[in-house]
Amino acid sequence: MTTLVIASGNAGKVREFAQLLEDLGLDTQPQPEGIEVEETGSTFAANARLKAEAVAKATGQWALADDSGLSVDALGGVPGVHSARYAATDAARIERLLQELHDAGALDPEARSARFTAALALADPSGRVVLEVEGHCPGQILMACRGDGGFGYDPVFYVPEVQLSFAEMPKALKAEVGHRGRAFAALKPQLQALLAQDRQ
Ligand code: IMP
Repeated sequence: MTTLVIASGNAGKVREFAQLLEDLGLDTQPQPEGIEVEETGSTFAANARLKAEAVAKATGQWALADDSGLSVDALGGVPGVHSARYAATDAARIERLLQELHDAGALDPEARSARFTAALALADPSGRVVLEVEGHCPGQILMACRGDGGFGYDPVFYVPEVQLSFAEMPKALKAEVGHRGRAFAALKPQLQALLAQDRQ
């Protein structure tokens, strides 16, 4: 069975990825302890690439990495690749975002357009990136929190397509319309084809 190392130190993310890929017949493993990859890229795709390359080289196995975040148009794409580091806690990150949009005069829904991006990169055991995909979810930043599910920016991210915030959506709906779900839907058939080739 082909081993696929999930290039993340976050146990929750490793579990979620293993579940999303469980029907592919892979042996998914967390990355070994002690690997720290600095996210120095200026795009989500660049950061996913950096992590996949480093972990594949360190382990000699296939490695899958992701990078994700929120880009707000009225703020020139901020917080973008800095989404996780925008402030110290989820509540502080949301407060800063709402304040910056207020200061920018972005007060109606059209002025508050945003999108979540999830970039995935797969590196082969030599460390070469052989597959890259992105999933996007367009939406708007609400004036205040709505819903109590999810994590991160979920309570202020509204998806007009389904008229709910991420925090109001059942998990299955977020998986369907969300950026990560869309990225995995694009990845899976290509990953399957690659692995079939590799096994020949
Ligand atoms: P990553 O783990 O480096 O990809 O960091 C992504 C950051 O973007 C997280 O810490 C969250 O702040 C934010 N983020 C990414 N995906 C989501 C999501 O689905 N909901 C809410 N926030 C998210």
